[in-house]
Amino acid sequence: MAGTDLLVDSHGRVLRDLRVSLTDRCNFRCLYCLPETEAAQNFYRGRWAQMPDSTPIVQQWVPRTHLLSFEEIERVIRVAVHLGIRKIRLTGGEPLLRSDVEHLVARIAKIPGIEDLAMTTNGFLFASKAQALREAGLRRVSFSLDSLDRANFKKITGRDGLDDVLHSIQLAQDLGFAPVKVNAVVIREINDHEIEALAEFARQHDLSFRFIEFMPLDSARAWQKDMVVPGREILERLRGRFELQPVAADASSTSKRWAFADGRGEIGIIAPVSEPFCGHCNRLRLTADGKIRTCLFSVTEHDLRSLVRHGADDAAISDWLRGVVWQKEARHHIGEPEFIAPPRSMSCIGG
Ligand code: SAM
Repeated sequence: MAGTDLLVDSHGRVLRDLRVSLTDRCNFRCLYCLPETEAAQNFYRGRWAQMPDSTPIVQQWVPRTHLLSFEEIERVIRVAVHLGIRKIRLTGGEPLLRSDVEHLVARIAKIPGIEDLAMTTNGFLFASKAQALREAGLRRVSFSLDSLDRANFKKITGRDGLDDVLHSIQLAQDLGFAPVKVNAVVIREINDHEIEALAEFARQHDLSFRFIEFMPLDSARAWQKDMVVPGREILERLRGRFELQPVAADASSTSKRWAFADGRGEIGIIAPVSEPFCGHCNRLRLTADGKIRTCLFSVTEHDLRSLVRHGADDAAISDWLRGVVWQKEARHHIGEPEFIAPPRSMSCIGG
């Protein structure tokens, strides 16, 4: 193993980015993540027209005693930062469902060495927490917004929440969160007809808007390649409508970015399926129940919770983390015959 105090893997990548899931629970039921009913989970095959109401799927949530406490999360982050992690993103599930989340943010914001503290949220509960999160030291927030059409938003997310999310995005900007990022998962025949409208929304509101390819991480295991709208196609469509200028990005960035030549805002394309960026991946994930994942598509999780709860000191946790990171997968295998979807879906892993 490399003789360094950084988190280095056997492929020479130095990890700087830790995504921390605060809960596997979510108040939305996005079709591509955690569909609500059996009909919805089969939406891919039947598509909308044949989607009758049907039996709700009973979710098996992580038992509360398995969730890492705020003290445990803070401790793991401190150790990780000591090992060179510089970016922390709080996610879920829906991170705003975790009670008193602003208290955790305040604790993390005080850890020396963190250069970037952000949260990914669906925005539904953001308004009630926004001020407290800002005061606690949260600087950046990313929202999910897959549709600007109220009916389509409800079909996709299972909730009539478009107005709340739009309000939250505006509020985040008013409170000085910067940049405010917005993410849309693009799925063919579901919301790909809205690509231009979503980009126009970014331009009008000076947002950093990311179009994400649909990945095989849905709890229904219904992902199929023909539902993915390749990043290249999204870009061609946007170029047909807007004049775009490339924006330079870090090699480790998940997105390729373009600014609107005539104004504010920018778009980014995250294309993990059609144009994988694994060679520059510097990310590590901590699930809400204390498992370390070295890749979004890992089929193995590493049990940090047991270590933490059985009295390991910081040095032991550091050694263990370095050993785990060393094993980070070279790349994912989506679209290849040997691809195996991870046992847990995106909402459990932490997006
Ligand atoms: N609840 C928060 C939210 O909605 O942003 C945070 C968790 S969510 C799992 C994080 C991100 O993962 C969201 O931007 C969501 O759209 C994305 N996501 C979930 N399932 C996905 C999938 N199958 N393919 C691509 N992105 C997905």
